[in-house]
Amino acid sequence: MIKKLTKLAFLVMLSAAAFAQTAPPATAPTGQPQQRRRNQPRPYAITIVNDTKVKLDTAHVSAAFKAVYPAFATADGYRTPIEVTMRVIDTNAKDFTLSAKPGEFVVNSKWIKNKRNFANFQNSLQEALHKNWNSVDTTRQNGYQLVFINKNSDFNPAIRKDLVEAFFKVYPVLVSTFNDKTTHEVVFVTDTAYGGVAEASGNRILFSTKYMNAHPTDIDIVTHEGFHLVQAYGGGAGPSWLTEGIADYIRYKYGVDNIGSKWYLPAFKATQSYKNSYRVTARFFEWIDQKVKPGVAVQLDKELRAHTYTEATWAALTGKSVDELWADYAKDPEVKLHYSGKERN
Ligand SMILES: [Zn+2]
Repeated sequence: MIKKLTKLAFLVMLSAAAFAQTAPPATAPTGQPQQRRRNQPRPYAITIVNDTKVKLDTAHVSAAFKAVYPAFATADGYRTPIEVTMRVIDTNAKDFTLSAKPGEFVVNSKWIKNKRNFANFQNSLQEALHKNWNSVDTTRQNGYQLVFINKNSDFNPAIRKDLVEAFFKVYPVLVSTFNDKTTHEVVFVTDTAYGGVAEASGNRILFSTKYMNAHPTDIDIVTHEGFHLVQAYGGGAGPSWLTEGIADYIRYKYGVDNIGSKWYLPAFKATQSYKNSYRVTARFFEWIDQKVKPGVAVQLDKELRAHTYTEATWAALTGKSVDELWADYAKDPEVKLHYSGKERN
């Protein structure tokens, strides 16, 4: 049964998640941000600019910020600033209390001067932050939770429904089959500012609304990205072509409707390499299953998670190196494909 929770319950959950954050490192990570490891905490900081006569207890503001903003930013996703400037301003706009955009808070000095408002600052801040989202819905089913944050008012609600259904159909199967230790609480975010198709990090899967609106049947993105959460290899486990190849192999095996979405594994071509990743590598795994030894991709997945994978793993599993296997594949690449056990017409 699917149980809808109220928005209030979600606010409480986000607060709990924020408290669970470990202390951030003293300095910001340098280098390419996409190389940041999964679940590595980001350093959050608030700068208070207050030229008004109102004296603020900055420790109280800081505590509210720490309790609320990291969870918001983690869920919010793409390029959400980690450093925030909070301006306290004198204004005669009577209805204005505070506004909170990613990276920038503005607070009315007259409003925050009120003791009760100040005491309740954390809740007000959270409410203001959530106004940046079009909608937030939480669904729970059989010990799994999905929080769906939609940041785009133009996102097709039918696609949203399909993504949620696909999640509850496929994710629990992947978790229980491959890695029951991974998260059972997942956040989906749809984002207009995101230029890719989809990506997974931490317990969050980010979808491009532009892509999804244009490709409404491609719901097995949930299977591929969901498997990245199941993989949870951490940094340095193995090459990314292998991670992506296994994720598409799993989509091929467990996808909800690959045939309906016209997703397929491309026929072999001499110009391909196993390092082409994604569907090319996935087809190679299916060939290994049928012609060499079943279950090699699944075994590689285990070793990557255990950080025991090396190039020698291929020979340990099959008696041949990955290059030797690929050479055999190139000689006779014929393979019968079954998408989630079904043949394509
Ligand atoms: Zn991927």
